[in-house]
Amino acid sequence: MPKTEIQDPIPNELYNILACPVDKADVKYTKDKTGLQCMKCKYVYPIREGIPIMLPPEMQEK
Ligand SMILES: [Zn+2]
Repeated sequence: MPKTEIQDPIPNELYNILACPVDKADVKYTKDKTGLQCMKCKYVYPIREGIPIMLPPEMQEK
């Protein structure tokens, strides 16, 4: 079977301490690991070049 698992884009130590800036809830990788989703408000924070952009929705440029 071919390996289809996607590499973690950010270091585990960083991933473990990340939290949603809005409600401080845990965030988890999205299915394709291009973002981090809050377990509480379900907002998705994008990961750009290995750096999670943990800005509240109203502060992110559309
Ligand atoms: Zn949240």
